[in-house]
Amino acid sequence: MLGEGIIKGLLETARNFAGSYVSKERLTTVQYPEEREPLPEASRVFPFLVYDGSDWLAGMRCVACQICEKECPPKCIYIEKSADKKPDAVGKPQAYPTRFDIDISVCMSCQICVEVCPFEAIKMDNKFELATDDRFGGLLLDRKKLAKPNEYYHQIHPTEAAEVDARLAAERAAVEAKAKAAAEATAAKAAAAKAAAEKVASEKTATEKASSEKNTPSAGGGA
Ligand code: SF4
Ligand code: SF4
Repeated sequence: MLGEGIIKGLLETARNFAGSYVSKERLTTVQYPEEREPLPEASRVFPFLVYDGSDWLAGMRCVACQICEKECPPKCIYIEKSADKKPDAVGKPQAYPTRFDIDISVCMSCQICVEVCPFEAIKMDNKFELATDDRFGGLLLDRKKLAKPNEYYHQIHPTEAAEVDARLAAERAAVEAKAKAAAEATAAKAAAAKAAAEKVASEKTATEKASSEKNTPSAGGGA
């Protein structure tokens, strides 16, 4: 029937309007911004950079590999890599970004940067009240503005953040076990080299002693 959809919609609106006086379920609107609906865990707006610990720069997980910069469809990520290195989230020495900017006026919230990052360093934020009249300075976010602690990541995406933490802990344990095994192997090699050197020295001493005894004349052997 022509207009059936419109009539159904109007009936639903009328049901919600009348029902909202007796049932909170029917109150489908909130008085934003005073009231806010909780955001779903999977909601996403623009990316942010995760850091561990209390120092955003020292704890930044990003190693400036630039994969996200290359893969970002509208090319709104700008990265410059450091010349020196610092430990990454699993303890390996890595470079870090001396510049990491995202132009959120261009970002299309596709999340590709998050999916391609091998270091769990970039995640999607759910903050959406970012309007500003400063088109260039206000919407080009630098690394300090983008940096947010791991605790914040847990707050907005708890399930995903717990999985990431478990994976990073396993990787960290593997790196530590590898370093320990390498240190033990080096120590064993050094001990074996020391034992071999001591054996050579002892054999040399024994040979010299035998030679010296052979060349010494006996007490009753005079003319
Ligand atoms: S969400 Fe998409 S568009 Fe935005 S920075 Fe990441 S890859 Fe680029
Ligand atoms: S955010 Fe991830 S993919 Fe992008 S540069 Fe940093 S480590 Fe590489």
